Amino acid sequence: MKRALITGITGQDGFYLAEYLLGLGYEVHGLARQTGLEHIRSNLLQDVPPELYQRCQLHAVSLDNFPGLYRLISKTPFDECYHLAASSFVGERLADGYQTIQNNIASTHYLLAALNEFQPKCRFYFAGSSEMFGRPKMAPQTEDTPLNPRSAYGISKVAGYHLARNYRESYGMFCGVGILYNHESPRRRPEFVTRKISMAAARISLGATDKLQLGNVEGRRDWGYAPDYVKAMHAILNHDEPKDFVVATGILHSVADICEAAFSHVGLEWRDHVVTSETFYRNEEDVPLVGSALKIEREIGWRPITPFKKIICQMVDADLARLKQPT
Ligand code: GDP
Repeated sequence: MKRALITGITGQDGFYLAEYLLGLGYEVHGLARQTGLEHIRSNLLQDVPPELYQRCQLHAVSLDNFPGLYRLISKTPFDECYHLAASSFVGERLADGYQTIQNNIASTHYLLAALNEFQPKCRFYFAGSSEMFGRPKMAPQTEDTPLNPRSAYGISKVAGYHLARNYRESYGMFCGVGILYNHESPRRRPEFVTRKISMAAARISLGATDKLQLGNVEGRRDWGYAPDYVKAMHAILNHDEPKDFVVATGILHSVADICEAAFSHVGLEWRDHVVTSETFYRNEEDVPLVGSALKIEREIGWRPITPFKKIICQMVDADLARLKQPT
């Protein structure tokens, strides 16, 4: 039986990856902050089936606890380590991003150093992001597109990516990198626009509110489905060579497209309910963030399965079900 360690197991991707690996027969260990574990114990994580985390071995070690991390990694042998934990709000101002940059880079370095010391054969997955391309000069982006991050999060991901690459090249560790574009699900946090819209469409359809404030509805992204993307993470670590792969759909949709899919799903016209607000407005890239997943398809055979509209409708249905649940 293979044993995997997931950092950030309480997040969206951690949840789906744990579910997937358990299904493949893995013994799954997860790192989480004490508060994350308390949320699991008191069932505060929205509609997470408790049995999922009961089937995992959870460790209350925060990634800035270097001795705690060393202790865990020196004691338990892992076959695979998926490093998903990161502070991740792209809308954060660069000038406020000290913690994001400091924590994300240090945690990746701590983890790589501990693995290299105690378990150099453990395969390491680094969760790269399309934010590493930031303001790209060309579209679609590939593994060879120059990195040009424009946020504290993006900068920290570029540094983490270079750390993983250096441990691969200098120490011979198996470090695979997935450069993932936005990926959504009913477990997406509400500050992301897809979830903000699915929650609003559900609430408005039940008459709980009438308006939704958004920023730029022309904003475009390459939106995929989180459960599809965690399969790419596993495939990257089980490839014959450690490499970097863009994980994307290659298709652009706008925020208006999300509104159209979500509101029409509940029989509403989005233009009657959406108002734009300066508060949420962000300057958009001239060249859009859209990825080419040709390399991962060619070398590993992974491709995205779930279409955009289905993802959004599933999110609205999940939010409707949550709202209808007795409190
Ligand atoms: P990220 O920017 O890729 O991390 O993902 P988000 O979900 O936060 O935003 C995706 C796109 O939605 C960007 O183009 C935003 O400018 C646009 N957007 C428009 N209105 C909103 C809003 O109210 N909230 C957020 N988060 N994004 C918005």
